[in-house]
Amino acid sequence: MKKINFYAGPAILAQEVIEEASKSALSFGDMGLSILEISHRSKEFVSVLEEAEALVRELLNVSDEYGVLFLSGGASSQFYMTAMNLLNEGDKAGYLDTGAWSSKAIKEAKLFGEIEVVASSKDKNYNYIPTGYDIPSDYKYLHLTSNNTIFGTEIFNWPETDVPFVADMSSDIFSRPLDISKFSIIYAGAQKNLGPSGVTLVIVKKDILNKVEKALPTMLKYQTHIDKDSSFNTPPVYPIYVSMLTLRWIKKNGGVAAMEKKNIEKSDLLYNEIDRNSLFEGTAAKEDRSRMNVCFLLKDEALEAEFLKDCAAAGCVGVKGHRSVGGFRASIYNAMPKAGVQTLVDVMKKFEEKNT
Ligand code: PMP
Repeated sequence: MKKINFYAGPAILAQEVIEEASKSALSFGDMGLSILEISHRSKEFVSVLEEAEALVRELLNVSDEYGVLFLSGGASSQFYMTAMNLLNEGDKAGYLDTGAWSSKAIKEAKLFGEIEVVASSKDKNYNYIPTGYDIPSDYKYLHLTSNNTIFGTEIFNWPETDVPFVADMSSDIFSRPLDISKFSIIYAGAQKNLGPSGVTLVIVKKDILNKVEKALPTMLKYQTHIDKDSSFNTPPVYPIYVSMLTLRWIKKNGGVAAMEKKNIEKSDLLYNEIDRNSLFEGTAAKEDRSRMNVCFLLKDEALEAEFLKDCAAAGCVGVKGHRSVGGFRASIYNAMPKAGVQTLVDVMKKFEEKNT
């Protein structure tokens, strides 16, 4: 029996996507070949890439002012690539420090410009999203991590400013509609809401590029990948294909507005149980609670092992929390059905009955 997958990433994918991807791994279309052995220059793969790009544009309403790229190197490579492509020496950029991934982005960006941390929630182990900070107008951009996978917080109110955003949306892209015009760059590792690991989606505004004076390695320039339609070098063919299937699945299921509605229902279901159940408590500030990564604790730590055992018995895997928060984390990305969340809620209810 298939387990209910609450892992943070690589993470759950829609079952029909996995089935289609499996078929194509054996035989892709009418090519008489596996998708794993075809050329990235074949017309069949070029059409996959084109469809993936078109679906990203359609689902998030991305205009031609932006390039849509499928790169390798993970979101972690975007921590430096963003700064490298946008900042000249002495240029300033602001960073909102909302967790481990933001901190890593800050560390890398410091190699390329004057980086100012506008606010941080480190004082409370990143359990909230700071507000009310100053955003000087001379910043080239403000970097935000829209969803903090480890700490279970998410930005719902974008800061009011004319400074454009650069955003790491690795763990909440396609989970809700976005006003793309506020963003210079959006990047996201695929392995949560989009596909398997190995590809990173980058949406980049074209007119902000080519303003840095220093020479950049060819592979690290966004312009290279815009000019060559993400095929300057061999792109990650299979991860892009599976991502394209997921994008089709999102479209078929009503697009990002429908995903948001379902994500609100699922996260409400779980947070309501966390708040109702006398044994558990949530870790994130209520107004900043992530709809993707739900972090919670048992008030009595001694019960943790038993709860994880009950989860496993019900088929729920990946519920153990990240070491920096402890307790539990249920990642409930787009592909997690409401019934999966309900199973976890039922385990929590029974656990309370048993232990009170
Ligand atoms: N940013 C966020 C918000 C993440 O959750 C992760 C991965 N868990 C990363 C960046 C790093 O991504 P990658 O492993 O693709 O470099």
